[in-house]
Order: sequence, then C-alpha cells, then structure tokens
Amino acid sequence: MNIKDLFDDSNAEVTAEIVDRVAQLRALLTRYNREYYELDEPSVPDAEYDRLFRELQQLEQQYPSLITASSPTQKVGGKALDAFAQIRHEMPMLSLDNALTDDEFHAFNKRIAERLDRQEAIEFCCEPKLDGAAVSILYENGELTQSATRGDGQIGEDITANVRTIRNIPLQLEGKFPQRLEIRGEVFMPLQAFERYNARAANKGEKTFANPRNAAAGSLRQLDSRITAQRPLHFYAYSMGVVSDDVELATTHFGRLTQLQQWGLPISDEIRVVVGAEECLAYYHSILARRAQLRYEIDGIVVKVNDIALQQDLGFVSRAPRWAIAWKFPAQEEMTVIRDVDFQVGRTGAITPVARLEPVAVGGVIVANATLHNADEIERLDIRIGDTVIIRRAGDVIPQVVQVVPERRPADARMITFPQQCPVCNSHVERIAGEAVTRCTGGLICAAQRREAIKHFASRKAMDIDGLGEKLIELLIEREWIKSPADLYRLNERELAYLPRMGDKSAKKIIAAINASKETTLPRFLYALGIREVGEATATNLAQHFGDLERIATASQAELEEVPDVGAVVANHIYQFFREPHNQQVIDDLLALGVHWPALEQRAAAEATLVGQTFVLTGTLSQMTRDEAKQALQARGAKVTGSVSAKTTAVIAGDNAGSKLTKAEELGITILSEADLIDLLQK
Ligand code: NAD
Repeated sequence: MNIKDLFDDSNAEVTAEIVDRVAQLRALLTRYNREYYELDEPSVPDAEYDRLFRELQQLEQQYPSLITASSPTQKVGGKALDAFAQIRHEMPMLSLDNALTDDEFHAFNKRIAERLDRQEAIEFCCEPKLDGAAVSILYENGELTQSATRGDGQIGEDITANVRTIRNIPLQLEGKFPQRLEIRGEVFMPLQAFERYNARAANKGEKTFANPRNAAAGSLRQLDSRITAQRPLHFYAYSMGVVSDDVELATTHFGRLTQLQQWGLPISDEIRVVVGAEECLAYYHSILARRAQLRYEIDGIVVKVNDIALQQDLGFVSRAPRWAIAWKFPAQEEMTVIRDVDFQVGRTGAITPVARLEPVAVGGVIVANATLHNADEIERLDIRIGDTVIIRRAGDVIPQVVQVVPERRPADARMITFPQQCPVCNSHVERIAGEAVTRCTGGLICAAQRREAIKHFASRKAMDIDGLGEKLIELLIEREWIKSPADLYRLNERELAYLPRMGDKSAKKIIAAINASKETTLPRFLYALGIREVGEATATNLAQHFGDLERIATASQAELEEVPDVGAVVANHIYQFFREPHNQQVIDDLLALGVHWPALEQRAAAEATLVGQTFVLTGTLSQMTRDEAKQALQARGAKVTGSVSAKTTAVIAGDNAGSKLTKAEELGITILSEADLIDLLQK
C-alpha cells in the first residue's frame, strides 16, 4: 500500500515530497530499530539515528495528519525475538524523551513547571545515563524469579537464566523487602572489560563489538546462558516497577533507590538530588567533565522529577514519561567519509595506514584523521576509500574506525593497497607472514627512522661514541648534517664548534670519540646496524658463525637459520636488510670512511676456547665492565646467562656479589674471581 493513501490528502500543506520523506524516514528508522534492538548490530551511529528520528518527529508535529500509531516516533524499542520465551510487562517499560542542548533542557523544565502550575524550583534526581540495555527483574519473596528485556515496551524476552549469571545482581534480597518487587535497571559492560573482551576476540579472529552498548545487549541476549556468564556484565538499578503493598515505599524517587540499595541491589554512586534547572546544568557539566574517567560508558544524564506524587500528576505520553528526560552528551560515534588513505612511517619503520576523513565532530572535537592500524585491520573491517565509516572517539582514546556503513559504499569505492616502497625513503617494504605490521627495510637511510637509527648506532653497546648524546644527534639531523650513520664520520671539528653550546674543546672531544669508534668489533658493528631483532647476542652469534661481514650479507635465509638463536623471522629480517641497496650503500660508506675490526677468521680458531660452557657474571669487576666481560666470553664461544642453574659452568663473582653467588654456593657450582676470568680469557 502506498503510504500516501494512509494520510489525509485534503491537508493542503502536505506535499507529495513531504509524504515521501516521511515514508522514507519511517522505513529507515524501522530498519535501524530492528538492527539495534533485535539484532544488536546497528549499521549507523546513534547520532545519525537521532537526527532522522528528530526530523520525523518535527514533520509529524508540523503535519499532525501524517501521524500513525505505528510510526517509530510512537513506539518503544523492538520486537521480542521468538527464540526466547516472552514475558508481558505488568507495567510498560517506556523510553525517554531526550534533550540535546541546554535550551531543550530548559524547555523541558518549563513544560513541567507549567503543567504542575508551580512557581518554585522543582527537585530533581539526576543520574548518569548508562549506555547498555534495560532489564526488568522480578523478586518474589526476595528471590530472583524472572527477568526480561524491554522488547517493545509491552512484551520482552525472558532472559532470567542470563541475568542470574551477572555477578552484582543478587539472587536473594536482604532486609525488609516487599514480597513482590519488580525493579528496572541497566545491564552494561564496563569499559576496561569491553576493551579486554574485544582484544581477546580480535586475537582469536572472533567478532568484536563496535561499542560497549552493543557488547552488553549482545551478551545479554544469548540463547546459551553459559556464554553470558563469560561476559563481564554489570548492573545498576534505576527504578521500581510493580511492587506489592506490604512495605511502605519512600515518597521520592531517590528515597526508593535508597530502599533498593538497602535490599541489596546495586545503584550508581553518581546519583544526586538537586533543586532547579541550574543545579541540573551543574550536574550535567560535572559528569561530562569526568566522562572519560568513569569506569563505564554513559551517553548523557537522566533528570527525573524526584517527588513521586508529582511524577504521577505529570503522567506519560505514548512512549515516555513526562517527568523525566535524557539529556544527551555529545555523541562519541559519528559517521563520515574516507577521502583518502596515506601511509606514515613510524620511528621503527612500521608503516601505518591513516585515513583522511571528511572532518566530523566526535565527542566534542573535530576529527579529520584516523589510524587504520595495519593491513589485517583494513581487511577485517573491509574498508575502502570512499566508504562511509563510523568513527568512535571515547574519552582520551584516539579516534577509531569501528565499522563501515555498507549501504553507503559508492560504486567507485577503491581498495586500499599497501605501497611496495617506503613512502619516505623508497626502500622496499616487508611484511613477515603471521605479523600484522608492514615495515620499511631502509632503516639506515629512512628519514622517518633516522633519529632512532643513529641514536642506536652511537649507543654504548653499539659503536660506543662517547659524548654523542640524544640532543646533539637531534640537532645534527635537524640541520641535515647527518642523514645516515656514515655521515657521522664526515663531520669535522670546525663545523661542530659552530653549534650552539659547543666550544672548540667539546667539538674536539666528540670528533676524537667518533674517530675512536672506527676501531670496533664485528659483533658491535652488526648490532649497530639496527637490523630488526638482532640484539647483541644474535650479532655475536652471527659474527662467530660466519666469520666476516661479506658472508653474512650474502648468506641465504636457510644458512642464516643455522646460526644459534636465529629462527625464520630473524633470518628474514637479516636477509631483507642486506638485500636493500640503500643499506648496502651505507655499509660500504662506513667501511670506506675507516670503520674496521680485527678479522675474526684468524682469531676464531684460537679463541673458540669456551664453546659449550655457560657463565653467569655477578658483582662489580675492577678491570673491565660486566658488558666487556660478557663480550669477551661470548667471543670465545661461551654462553652468558642471567641466572644460575645446574647448567651453569661457573659463576664469575666480582665485588659485592649477592644472591647469584649464594645460589651458586648452594648448588655447588664453580666460583671464579676476576683474576680467574682474565686467566681464562688469556688461555
Ligand atoms: P534511550 O536510550 O534514549 O533512553 C531510555 C533508556 O535509557 C532506558 O530504556 C534505559 O535503558 C536507559 N537508561 C540508562 N540509564 C538510565 C537511568 N538512570 N534511568 C532511566 N533510564 C536509563 O531510549 P531508547 O528508546 O532505549 O533508545 C533510543 C536511542 O537508542 C536513540 O536515541 C538512539 O540513540 C539509540 N538507537 C540507535 C539506533 C541505531 O541504529 N544506531 C537504533 C535505535 C535506537
């Protein structure tokens, strides 16, 4: 049937266009209601739903002849699912009208003052508006006997078994409770629990929830209550439903909440009684300011007339009480369009796709960019350029793309393809199977990674360039005096002395330290290159296994995997590193500029005297540092570990040795002094 036929066509103002728009809005809202209430899988953010709902409400107000009983503006929630047994609410479970601005709140206040014909300020109970799912719970003789969802306000779903699994809902009331007590409240998932749940689900490749509300509603409406039991749900009561008359009830809403609390039911500790609109405003702003610190998500506050007698005077309209209003906070989810995707290179070479968005206000700030994290995330959410997406910005968390709105995908939406070359330095990129991150392999020359690469290169355990601190490195990079580690060896004293806070003397010292670092060892040099996952131990193992740099640089992945501690992933990093011509160029430059080390081949035979032995170093040595001792032992093929066990060959104890020495004594392990160590190394 054509919707137009349903309306009074004689109304001259109602144009065909308006009728079409009303029909379109109703169809959309009906669909969104089903997705939200029945499937727990909304496809648009609440803000979009609210805009369309308001538009329909306004059209209906303007053209009352268009109102029908089945319009979404006249109804509550969605249909109860057949999969659950159904429960008829003895007292309907309604929705709430909402205010989006201060003005709308003041209009609410004025409306009720007029209706009650009162001059003096009204007392209100202000509560956080928890973002979860409404439930009704029935206690008979103090025992939880039944629980239902709101459903369409008249008929809800029987979720008794599920509600019983929620830990802070008592199965038995305490104190002097009414024989029959129905309560209403919100089931929600606290934020931390929500994030943990999603992280675990994403790890297991399972479905994640876009927000805590969907998580709570979806978890609550499980056919198997064992699943609900595993979900970290929480509950706060916010009103009474049907109550037997054997116990005297308080005459205010807040008084009744206090009674609920006395009977063992949890209520929010943020609830306050205030007088007049200004105090409501202050409450609104105080909670809004603390929104990000709350343990749970709230989408506004609920302001309720506190006096129950006044509530009764005010009564209800079709879908909501007149005595309460949901005063909403700025939406934390909005939708917008992805205009393009750029790729950013992080300090460690990780390449991150960043969505460039049509700017949109979310949670009170304008958002124009959002990270898409990595290729897996793009695939999981099936994001394309041109898509309309839902952006969520909760608290101080960076904006996230949580969902694509599939119906808004344009025909010319483009797939997002990762670059094959680093967008900063043009080196090739690698993505290790099983890892989410794509990386630039040009660690030594990439401008994005320069700072970290050079800091690492100069650090104590690498080339050990004394006096070349972080600040100086940053300054040199800023002035573009150094672009790769090789440029360090091209610096001269005169140039350096020009830098701020640098005299001739310091410049001289730094150049001397740079020159001194030219004489190094192969393990130190390998470590200094900053190949991913190649730490000191792996660098030492590589040097010992292959003997010289050329053989490491040309080794196949299989050959690399023969080295102790080198698995497929590390082998791949090493292999890729040396295949990148940019890196090779920097190495050639370093060698040409005089970096050198004693050939290992000649020493290898003489020095591999400690193969198969494991040492633990403890206490302070006087003639060398523990690091130097460690390197010397490793260079002779020994293993150096951090804890004493039955496998330890000997513990080398310096001054003030502590628990490791005691443990060695207990286990009867050989204990060597520093002098013994020097003997050992000289053998
Ligand atoms: P509502 O959520 O605006 O307000 C009523 C509900 O607030 C109650 O049922 C209760 O569950 C909850 N509530 C939380 N704290 C409360 C407290 N202290 N006291 C009383 N109630 C409290 O209304 P609604 O009818 O449940 O839902 C309408 C809203 O749901 C829309 O404004 C929209 O934001 C959202 N929605 C979104 C979609 C979508 O597709 N994204 C679809 C339908 C509805």
